[in-house]
Amino acid sequence: MTGAPLLSVEGVFKYFGGVHAVDGVSFTLQPGRVTALIGPNGAGKSTLFALIAGQYVPDRGRLLFAGRDGSREMGRLSAAQRCALGIARTFQTAQAFGTLTALENVQLAHAAHARRTLNAWRPLAQDHAAQAQSLLVRVGLGGQAARAAADMPYADLKRLELAIALAAAPRLLLMDEPTAGMAPAERFALMDLVRALSAESRLTVLFTEHSMDVVFGYAERLLVLSRGKLIADGAPEAVRRDPVAQAAYFGDAA
Ligand code: ADP
Ligand code: MG
Repeated sequence: MTGAPLLSVEGVFKYFGGVHAVDGVSFTLQPGRVTALIGPNGAGKSTLFALIAGQYVPDRGRLLFAGRDGSREMGRLSAAQRCALGIARTFQTAQAFGTLTALENVQLAHAAHARRTLNAWRPLAQDHAAQAQSLLVRVGLGGQAARAAADMPYADLKRLELAIALAAAPRLLLMDEPTAGMAPAERFALMDLVRALSAESRLTVLFTEHSMDVVFGYAERLLVLSRGKLIADGAPEAVRRDPVAQAAYFGDAA
């Protein structure tokens, strides 16, 4: 695990009044790895995601990202600026526009990304459609292009959301509870896809997850948050045996 990290989180804090949501967290992510961020409800996982993706500004600390223009401090950049650097996220509840088709949703995301990153050269609408179709194929929705998002089953909607995130050509993909609400077989199929995407294009993935079979089946590394602090960081089996992580989280779960 050497080489330059893609993301460095250095002593980051975010308080909401008296709530220490993220309380001095530091870690780095190496390119191309799949890491799970786990911890009890209220541990600060979603807040940490929002700090990385740009919905929140840290009270203290630094966030360094090795984006398209080299490594830079990004703690005060907007979410759109971070997206242009190569950070995309999916949300716990799917964010697609229901009245638009699957293809239109991805096309919009692709066009928005082109506007953010390529000022002088704007691909034609046709080009966005072709790119969007190939993203749909990549997530296994090649045959669903003309379907309205609102009519898609939940598992397909999660795949569509993944295609929307990939339209920004991310280097870092943040997924907040990607498999929440899915049946076990669908969960594994979605995570198989995420793992394949990561391996194909060296995409770095950080995901939060409550399902232990997904965590231990797919993460190469676990970060455990408890009350805003990182209390364990390492290989899944080592973290599973860690007494501190067990006391704070696994208890009877593992
Ligand atoms: P997790 O995603 O691990 O369940 P969160 O990051 O959502 O945890 O929340 C961490 C803590 O911060 C919780 O105590 C939560 O109530 C609090 N919190 C999160 N967002 C806000 C907010 N916008 N305003 C006030 N408190 C918040
Ligand atoms: Mg959360």
